[in-house]
This record gives sequence, structure tokens and C-alpha cells, in this order.
Amino acid sequence: MKRNRKAKIVATLGPASSTKEAIRALFKAGADVFRFNFSHGSHEEHQSRYHILREVEREMGRPIAVLADLQGPKLRVGTFAGGKVTLRTGDAFRVDSDLAPGDESRVGMPHPEVFAALKPGVELLLDDGKIRLAVTTCGEDWAQLRVVAGGALSDRKGVSVVGALLPMSALTEKDRVDLAFALDMGADWLALSFVQRPEDMVEVRELVKGRAAIMAKLEKPSAIDCLEEIVRLSDGLMVARGDLGVEMRPEQVPILQRRILRECRKSGKPVIVATQMLESMISAPTPTRAEASDVATAIYDGADAVMLSAESAAGLFPVEAVAFMEHIIQEVEKDPYSRLVLDAAHPQPTPTIADAICSALRRVVALLDIAAAVTYTNSGSTSLRAARERPAAPILSMSPSLEVARRMALVWGVHSVLIGKLDSIEGVVESARKASRDQGFAATGDVIAITAGTPFNVSGTTNLLKLAIV
Ligand code: PGA
Ligand code: MN
Repeated sequence: MKRNRKAKIVATLGPASSTKEAIRALFKAGADVFRFNFSHGSHEEHQSRYHILREVEREMGRPIAVLADLQGPKLRVGTFAGGKVTLRTGDAFRVDSDLAPGDESRVGMPHPEVFAALKPGVELLLDDGKIRLAVTTCGEDWAQLRVVAGGALSDRKGVSVVGALLPMSALTEKDRVDLAFALDMGADWLALSFVQRPEDMVEVRELVKGRAAIMAKLEKPSAIDCLEEIVRLSDGLMVARGDLGVEMRPEQVPILQRRILRECRKSGKPVIVATQMLESMISAPTPTRAEASDVATAIYDGADAVMLSAESAAGLFPVEAVAFMEHIIQEVEKDPYSRLVLDAAHPQPTPTIADAICSALRRVVALLDIAAAVTYTNSGSTSLRAARERPAAPILSMSPSLEVARRMALVWGVHSVLIGKLDSIEGVVESARKASRDQGFAATGDVIAITAGTPFNVSGTTNLLKLAIV
């Protein structure tokens, strides 16, 4: 089965997509990567979905990527005596480390380390930004606040601290347990929420030890401040627009989205645009025109993938949502203007042998009628550098590693296949011919372009470009 598009679709699994029929239908409709959201659900539920997903993968004969998304340090207020209170704009309010139930005048916040980072002027945004509180005075374990925008506040609502770098690791105790579980389960990608600084990615990489690729979710202003460094230290990125629009302002999201996409493209790292893409499809069978336009914009801007959250995890129309993304992507990619935009944003190749080869690959594909750009890759790096060039032909990524074949399912333009280990140029060319025919990319007489690295099966040696006739 091959897709008729370059950009990828990530679908989050949840209660609305837990049966084999549901997961198979999502894959068939176009989902390439499945997200397991560790903010919700038990390990047993994740394990059961994982098991089903791998069965579907076997049935379909296509590598599928599993993205385990860790909750991260999402701050929350404690509880209220009556379950909820109403805060009035202009009133005073207090947060402290006392975990006794709160009332109209105060509430506990079970994150003692946060108080040290507060200072007058810092804002607390509660419940996805619906309520805003400004710090007036603060101490070691309390802060006195003024209600800037009031409203109803109920138990355990989320808190974002704006304008402060929190002295917290991006990994909570829960995240560490979930991370170990997700790796044992067999996740291909691990996403880290609320990354604040480059060290967060170093820390997670040390824990993961190459067992999965690691992704930084960009949703904190402090991460944007050191974007380049975080991109360099990550294998993939997510524009996590939900929390990003709370931590910053919604009007900054479109600008940041593009800045992040440009930085990822420059670095050749796959990037997902996430959250509220087809939000209205949680309860309606068709998207709003604005949503269709949002998905299209991400594709025009060169995103590797677009993501569904509640639409596929808990909505009424999960399959329809994936199918709409599929249609939107196909329409955009058919538009000659989208190719012009991609080309205009083409990043300079770096002065390396790998980029010299991949940029030659792009020129060859633009000049000849090439049926497939075949990469033979051990670590995925050849396929990633080829994808960075955004060639017009499909990238047929052949890897002897099942893990790598699965990870590549997220990458723009890549059709990933698992293949036996090869150790000669003749072997690679023969396999490339066979794979392009078997996978439906080429017929007898078609020209394919092949890139690989010698010595074979050593990572990061891309140094070979060969044209062959099928
Ligand atoms: P979340 O991440 O759904 O895990 O919060 C995505 C986002 O914040 O946009
Ligand atoms: Mn988030």
C-alpha cells in the first residue's frame, strides 16, 4: 500500500480508537504515525492498543511509527472545598503550598519548586488561559495575586507560569515511569512536553539510550528562546500549539509555527504541526473552512506531518478526520504553487559529502523523470538528508533495521520499507529495482536514483548516487 502524498498524518489513539477495526480504519484512511498520549489512559490501555496496532502493521505489511507522548510537568492547582469557585476580576487571590481545600481567597499548588521562580509581574494562566492572575508579592511558599481576568475555577485545573524559567526538569516521576514503560512497549518516538531548555533533551537522551528517537514539544517561551539548540539536540519536533498559545499568546502561534518549521527544515529534522487542526470534527462530520485552511497552510509551509488529537482519540468522527487530512494534503500537493513555495524555502546544503549527494539527487530528480529516489539507510540519516531536499520524486527508504524503518514513517516524502542487510553496490541496486517495482513506484524501463553510503551498514556515510533503469 502506498500513499499518494508526501506529508504525513499523525493520529492520536484513545477511547474512540481502541479496537482493531477502528485502528485499521484509521491506518487505511491515511494515518502513518499513531500517538499514544500518556496524559490519559492506563498502561494496560496503551499496551492493548499497541498490541493491536502491531497486528494491523503485520496485516498491512507497512512499517508504522508509534509516538509515545509524555505528559511532562503540567502544573495544576489543588482542590476546592466546594469543587469550584468563581474568581472576580480585580480581587485578590493567593496560591500557597498548603494542600487543604481552597476557597474564594486561596488555593494550594502542589509544586513547591515553582514558588522560587515567581516574582512580582509574573502571570499565572489557569485553565488553558481562561483565568489570568498576576503576582503582586510572593514568598518562599506562597504568592499573593491579583485577578486580571476572572471566571470559574475548579479542582486540579492546569497552571502555566508566564515570564519565568521554572527550575524543573521536563521529566516528572510519572514521566520516568511512563518513559520506561513506553520503551518496553516498543515506542519508536518519545515526545517530551514543556521542554524549557537544551539540557532537558540531553537528560532524556541519556535515559532513552537510542532505543527510540526523541522529540521536543515546543510549547514554552523559554524553549523558543533557545530554539536552534533544542532542534539540534532533538530527532524531531512538535509545534504544540495548544499550550504554546497559552504560554504565549494565540496571535503569536502562526508566526512561531513558521519559525519552527523553517528551523527544522534547515536542520533536516521532522516536525509535526499539532492541536486543534480539525477541532470541530470532534463532534461534526466535516471541518470548518478555517480548519481546512489551517491544515493546508501547514502543508504549504513544508511541515512533515499534521496531527489529530481529540479528533481521533475521543471524537465522534475519527476516520473522517483522517480522511479529510488526506484529502487536504493531496489537494495542496497537486497545486503547482506548493512546489514553488517549497523550492523557494529550500535550505542551502551544508558543505558535507552527504549533502552534496542529496542535493545532486534533488537536481537529478528535477531534470529527469525519476520514478523513485531510493535511499539505503542504516540509521535513517540518508533518508532524512534526502527529505531535507524535498525532492519531487517519492523517497523510497530501504532500511535493514525495523526500528529505523518505523521511525521514518513520520518523515516528509518517505515511503519506508524493511529490507535484508546489503553489502555491495550491486546488491543495493538490485534491491532498489525490486523494491520500487514491488511497492508500485516503478515499472520496467523507469529510471530510479539511488543513494547510499559505503562502507555499507555504517551510519552517516552517504557518499553514493547511482542512476539505474528498472
Ligand atoms: P498536549 O500537547 O495535547 O499533550 O497538551 C499538544 C499541545 O500542547 O498542543
Ligand atoms: Mn501540550
